[in-house]
Amino acid sequence: MSNYVDYKRVPIKHYNAEERVRSLNKETLIPYTLDEVVAESSRCLGCGLCIQGCPARIDVPGYQIAMANGNLEDGLRINFEKLPFVEVCGNVCPHPCEDSCILEDNKGSLATRHIKKFISEDIPDYREVLKVRIQDLGGHPNVAIVGAGPTGLSAAFYLSINGIKVDVFEATDKPGGVMVHGIPPFRLPRESIKKEAEHILSYGSRIFYNTRIGRDVLFESLMKNYSATYIAIGNWKPTRIKIKGEDLQGVYHALEFLNRINNGEKIEVGERVAIIGGGFTAYDAARISLRLGAKKVTMLYRRSAIDRPGYPSSNADEELEEAEEERVIFDWETSPFEYTGENGRVKGLKYWRNQMVDTGKGRRQPVPVKDKEYLIDVDTIIEATGQREDLSFIPQEIMEKLTTTPTGDLLVNQYNMTSYPGIFAGGDITNKRKDIISGVADSGRASMGILLYLKEQGKIQRVPQRLTNYEGGPYSTTSYEINDKEIPAFAANPTEIKD
Ligand SMILES: Cc1cc2nc3c(=O)[nH]c(=O)nc-3n(C[C@H](O)[C@H](O)[C@H](O)COP(=O)(O)OP(=O)(O)OC[C@H]3O[C@@H](n4cnc5c(N)ncnc54)[C@H](O)[C@@H]3O)c2cc1C
Ligand code: SF4
Repeated sequence: MSNYVDYKRVPIKHYNAEERVRSLNKETLIPYTLDEVVAESSRCLGCGLCIQGCPARIDVPGYQIAMANGNLEDGLRINFEKLPFVEVCGNVCPHPCEDSCILEDNKGSLATRHIKKFISEDIPDYREVLKVRIQDLGGHPNVAIVGAGPTGLSAAFYLSINGIKVDVFEATDKPGGVMVHGIPPFRLPRESIKKEAEHILSYGSRIFYNTRIGRDVLFESLMKNYSATYIAIGNWKPTRIKIKGEDLQGVYHALEFLNRINNGEKIEVGERVAIIGGGFTAYDAARISLRLGAKKVTMLYRRSAIDRPGYPSSNADEELEEAEEERVIFDWETSPFEYTGENGRVKGLKYWRNQMVDTGKGRRQPVPVKDKEYLIDVDTIIEATGQREDLSFIPQEIMEKLTTTPTGDLLVNQYNMTSYPGIFAGGDITNKRKDIISGVADSGRASMGILLYLKEQGKIQRVPQRLTNYEGGPYSTTSYEINDKEIPAFAANPTEIKD
């Protein structure tokens, strides 16, 4: 190996697992130092493969060049061309860009997420660095955004910096969506969400908390009073597995469980907790249970380890490693079929073992082998078995005009516009990846579509060349460029189904 260039990835260190499970807030990953960031960024070859790996197409090599020179401000500006949640993503992005990094097989893919974390955490005041130039597009129509999760807030950012009047309606009492109600603080510090949400809202968007569309304000009134609407409600309707004993005390759906804990409630989980599921939510429920005092936490998943959600990816490896360090137990290829109880409280979980069958169609399918039953003693069961969108706030006559996918999801075109002109949708309710960066990418496309639509409607006189406009920019080769000749197709094309 050369004496001058060391191609080995700069290791990412973890705080001691035994110490971190004692606190809900103690972070898992030790940040890089500036020297480590410079060393790691200097490994980048600039090939740009990672740009295709990133759902938002962030100019990853661009900010490596900046950081190899220790230039944090340019590092931030380049990220911000595509991402108003740099610190959030610096903590919890599943970093698909790292999986496409050409260095993956050569001593480790570039640690892009950890570099992002350093850049954003070291810059307290984004406004001072970015120097956003608010556009005057010859009109200031208003746009309603339903939901203040990452996709709703990102759209608020892009639209407000283009002079659009934005009103965000949020059912809960704070901004952030799942980032704040679902993801635990030991993975995503609350100050990061607050800092980035406040920055976004500082460009003039109004936000109405505790305002559920369909209950406190009717969707029809948004349609009447706003020039366009962006539906960004995420997936909040729990999917239960519907087995005997599900209504016993001590059985929760993970979303409800995480929501309550993240909002300061105390839940006694006892010593033995079983988690059903294998995705983001299951890991968070397991790791939170340990922090609530559980001694034995078992994750039961119906498929094998190599068929688990997100596998193969470096993120799937990392989440498994972090959970194993904390002594979460994994029981793969299992099908729970009954919860047993005593005096109305859950006491046991019965399950079958599965056989993984290759049907020749995609992932191997789990098939329970029912001739032998297994039982584990539990004090709490948490079902992390998915959630869906709740579109019940949309009146029937509008719903009938919205094209949906075979599974009932809203169908959107390349600008995230639904088949109903002026209604746009994005985030978990339309994209398949269901992560923060994909929701942010949706909001970029939707914002471009909304501006094109508003121009079409004569509400603004021109569309900008780019969605973002920072003093001294553009900083990135992948900034959003808007082609004003191209207007969104009103009828969604079924070939553009996104899930
Ligand atoms: C436990 C858990 C852990 C996760 N971990 C990660 C991770 O580490 N990395 C990652 O990238 N992704 C992670 N995800 C996924 C990620 O959180 C979602 O993809 C992302 O939050 C989706 O953003 P969104 O804006 O579409 O929706 P949400 O974040 O769900 O936000 C939707 C918002 O809309 C509001 N709302 C809903 N209905 C209405 C209504 N009728 N009126 C008004 N407001 C309404 C909700 O209150 C909410 O604030 C995780 C998800 C979960 C559940
Ligand atoms: S794929 Fe890896 S080496 Fe290539 S530009 Fe991206 S980060 Fe750099």
